[in-house]
Amino acid sequence: MDKEQGVIVAKSAGFCPGVKGAIDKVLELEASGKKPVYTLGPLIHNRQVTDMLEAKQITSVERPDQATDKNGVLVIRAHGITPAFRQEVMQSGMEVVDATCPLVKHAHDVISQYAQQGYHTVIVGDSGHAEVIGLLGCTQGKGVVVSGPQEAEKLPSFDKVNVVAQTTQKESVFLETAEVIKRKSAVCQISNTICHPTKLRQSETIQMAKNADLVIVVGGKHSANTARLALLCRELAPAVLHIETESELTPQQVLAPKRIFITAGASTPNWVIDQVADWVRQTRKHRGFAFIGMLQRLWAKGVSYSFYTAFAAMALTYVCLKLEGLHSQWKPLAFSWLFVFSLTTVNRAFEDKARPAGRLSALPGFIAAGLGLLVAWLMGPEVFGLSAAFIAAGLFYPFRHLLKLKILALPGTKDFFTALGWGFSCAFLPAFANGMVLRKAVYLAIFYAVLLVFMRSVTLGFTSANKDLMIGKESFYKAFGIGKTKLAVAVLLIMLTAVLVTLLMITWKPALVAMLLLGNLYTLFIVIYYYSHPASRGVKEETLIDGQFFVLWLLAWFSRFI
Ligand code: SF4
Repeated sequence: MDKEQGVIVAKSAGFCPGVKGAIDKVLELEASGKKPVYTLGPLIHNRQVTDMLEAKQITSVERPDQATDKNGVLVIRAHGITPAFRQEVMQSGMEVVDATCPLVKHAHDVISQYAQQGYHTVIVGDSGHAEVIGLLGCTQGKGVVVSGPQEAEKLPSFDKVNVVAQTTQKESVFLETAEVIKRKSAVCQISNTICHPTKLRQSETIQMAKNADLVIVVGGKHSANTARLALLCRELAPAVLHIETESELTPQQVLAPKRIFITAGASTPNWVIDQVADWVRQTRKHRGFAFIGMLQRLWAKGVSYSFYTAFAAMALTYVCLKLEGLHSQWKPLAFSWLFVFSLTTVNRAFEDKARPAGRLSALPGFIAAGLGLLVAWLMGPEVFGLSAAFIAAGLFYPFRHLLKLKILALPGTKDFFTALGWGFSCAFLPAFANGMVLRKAVYLAIFYAVLLVFMRSVTLGFTSANKDLMIGKESFYKAFGIGKTKLAVAVLLIMLTAVLVTLLMITWKPALVAMLLLGNLYTLFIVIYYYSHPASRGVKEETLIDGQFFVLWLLAWFSRFI
């Protein structure tokens, strides 16, 4: 527990394995760009995620005949479907991918097994919920849904009955209901099909919520499991807030309580939980120091909306100018700021639509792109032509699936293209504009910039470990996993050092290169920090990682005195 701020985030909060598996499957299909992707019903009940899926043109349909492109692929979501509907889907002629959670499948099997032996089935759950409809479909027409013990009292007696639970049911409600049915049945089988992740979430909530002064439940207002979690908390804690994002909170709500417990439903993405926790902690950190709190919030906005990253690119351009033996010039510096700001903003607006940063309109990005072209024009027509090509490619990146090019869906391409873009604007363009691209030191400077940015990108992806950033396999981490990503970062660090040592060996700007070698220590610190904090990514982390460019800028500037 964060004793300083009195805020604790549930370990079990966030996507359950079933939901995460279904989302990963859908995103992999979309990233492959082969076919349009349709889900049978909304994948999950979370507005941020459904916004993101819509932005990626992943469409939710109720039936196969609603899919406009019959060459598309239909995905059965984690909730599962009835056997009869499954047959209809299979006969639709479309490719079908089954993302039913294995634990829901287990509940289907349990129901079918007893139904075949002539048992009636009583399902304890929310009638009308997609999962419950699927469960009901396995009962061979002898099933009934009850919400709890009161409704169970009204049921007739059974000769043979199997009592099962919706996988996200509150355990105490299920057990009480099962007891009622047991009393009035000759043979009663109690099949506790509440899934293990739900049980963990509930037991952690029970343990933590009763010691909290305020519980914040994060998740969709229409999500049944989040609503149930909020209900459970209301029985245990004096105050409970059910919110979708931190924008629904006010400082007054989180300043007074001594202990705050933050939890979330199975359909809440980790980044949303992190944003809420960050906001609450930052707000509480400066109780009594409203001005500092306001500054912190401003800083967070600056980071989220790419201003900070754009200045980091500018700092890298300064370093590259020095490394290439050039004077500091306003045009390449301004161009790199505008280039990185425009591409990051537009990509976030279209791709990470579900993230708070993504709510920023793409318009400032397009304006920055226009200004960038203007600055490029001032550097000459060749620079303008090349810049226009890079800017166009970068702005088009969120729509790459339209090209259906396999190369764009290759593992790790997002990190690679990011590094290439920065390498162009921060290292290549200043040299090109000054007519000095053919020098060995310039090649090395470009390579140095590309390596640094590739490492930044991979490390940022790494910190998103299980943070379901929904970036698909274009991200190195998502494509290769944690072990290989760590290895790649270590190799990149060695290569970075090797480039600088090579420059030292050819006695190119020894004072500057020696200072940059010193800067590698900061990069090493970041890598170690990220290795030991794999589960976090927030304003602090992004500040730290892009901070390396400011450290290098300072070192480069300081080298003039040596
Ligand atoms: S709540 Fe449990 S059963 Fe349902 S999708 Fe998640 S892991 Fe699977």
